[in-house]
Amino acid sequence: MIEMTLKKYFGFKTFRPKQRQIIEAVNSGANTLGVLPTGSGKSLCFQVPGLQAEGVTLVISPLISLMKDQVGNLKQMGIPAEFLNSTLKKKDEERIMREGLEGRYKFLYVAPERFNNDEFREFVGKLHIPLVAFDEAHCISKWGHDFRPSYQEVIPTINALIPDAAFVALTATATEEVQENIQELLDIRDENVVLSSIKRDNLHLSVNKTYQRDQFILSYIEGRGDVSGIVYAATRAEVEKISAYLADHGVNNVIYHGGLGKKERDVNQHAFLTGDVPVVVATNAFGMGIDKPDIRFIIHHNLPGDLESYYQEIGRAGRDGKVSECILLSSQRDVNLHQFFIDRSNGSEQHKDHMRSKLDKMIQYNRTSKCLMSFMVKYFDADEYVMSCGRCGNCLSTERTYNMKEEASAVLELVRHTGPSLTKEHIIQVLRGERSEDVIAEALDQSPHFGSMSGYQTGEVHHILDELILSGYLHHEDQHLRLVERSREVLSGEADIHTVPFRKQLKEKVEISTA
Ligand code: ADP
Repeated sequence: MIEMTLKKYFGFKTFRPKQRQIIEAVNSGANTLGVLPTGSGKSLCFQVPGLQAEGVTLVISPLISLMKDQVGNLKQMGIPAEFLNSTLKKKDEERIMREGLEGRYKFLYVAPERFNNDEFREFVGKLHIPLVAFDEAHCISKWGHDFRPSYQEVIPTINALIPDAAFVALTATATEEVQENIQELLDIRDENVVLSSIKRDNLHLSVNKTYQRDQFILSYIEGRGDVSGIVYAATRAEVEKISAYLADHGVNNVIYHGGLGKKERDVNQHAFLTGDVPVVVATNAFGMGIDKPDIRFIIHHNLPGDLESYYQEIGRAGRDGKVSECILLSSQRDVNLHQFFIDRSNGSEQHKDHMRSKLDKMIQYNRTSKCLMSFMVKYFDADEYVMSCGRCGNCLSTERTYNMKEEASAVLELVRHTGPSLTKEHIIQVLRGERSEDVIAEALDQSPHFGSMSGYQTGEVHHILDELILSGYLHHEDQHLRLVERSREVLSGEADIHTVPFRKQLKEKVEISTA
């Protein structure tokens, strides 16, 4: 049972959406692709099948720091795992290979370049490898935003050395063409592609057109207290300039970019991850594999070159599910620079055109007055239907907001009355006055709150519940909802809770307008 493996090694009771589907496909022996948002638990999708299979799972990973983190985590859970990379001493490398041949490991992490090494290829040929996992699989595709030729070149070698192994590829950012490319290269059938919406309700996206970007960043951070956040800038020089400006104004921050020595990078990263220093100003060299749950804001000082990079970078915010802000700043100079680099790059004309059209989409995102989350979702999946998110900067500035105070209080009164025993579905049924089997069985139709929102549709009550959960007035765990300390502010009528006018009738009732 896959649940037992989940519980035994990872201590979790239930799978997250899509994890089960991917794991079942992998366990059936099929080559599988999973595209899931950052923080949704992709590692488990190959770790659970790897633990259940005989032999050792080979994990192809692009970064030494990623390998280290994952191997460290596995070891902590008592799962035998190692990595082979250039940071190891010869003697450790030999030991790991020897122990690998003795069948001591369940997971072995390597960078694709390892396969250039004769000794390593010979070693792999002698192992029993049921599964090869490609982490950060978008690196395989030349249409991806972080193409690594070695990631693609290694595929024929792996096919030749371990022809019976199944493949599982995982990524957070793949447009349709990147997906198709990965499918073709790894021989993955359509029915074994598991996609989840990239939509993340707790990320509040916005674009700010200010010319005074440094000042904007400073006053934003000053207004937030000590919360953690990342400021991304395009160049090392800009990183240093912004960092110095913030420090001059009393904002405690560290920098991170490829020009720093390894030691300094490690110290700075550590200071940020432990929360000793709340803000890091960095180039895009910072972030892959960063699993800090409480990053509350990500500000881009410059326009990224494509939406995949942007989405991957902002994906690091709010891994704990709490509201986090992702603000995009930019200047015309950013666009010119990207264009310049594309023109000057070595790729074919076809490739350059491709990069230009990606840049165009990024520019459109920067300019649109429509819902930013919908724009993003559509970019990654043209077939997905998305309503305006009601939370991004564009939704909040184009539509006037509605104070859902009364509705909020009706919901919380019910939860106060029943205690933490109800699921979202039950709450909606009781408030709308639906006599479902469960409602009758629990005598909830006798509650004084039964039918207190009978004029609302299911989706509308859903919206209210989501809004309460996201703004921290209700706690959602194991499918059940319960009150928290802050709920009191709603019950006493003190809290104003602004949202988009989520039903037609409200459009006339709208009271206030905020940016
Ligand atoms: P990703 O690679 O998708 O960014 P990770 O694999 O690093 O995400 O997982 C993110 C976090 O979610 C980790 O802390 C992990 O332990 C946790 N997690 C993964 N699956 C589950 C689950 N089924 N239940 C609870 N927590 C989970």
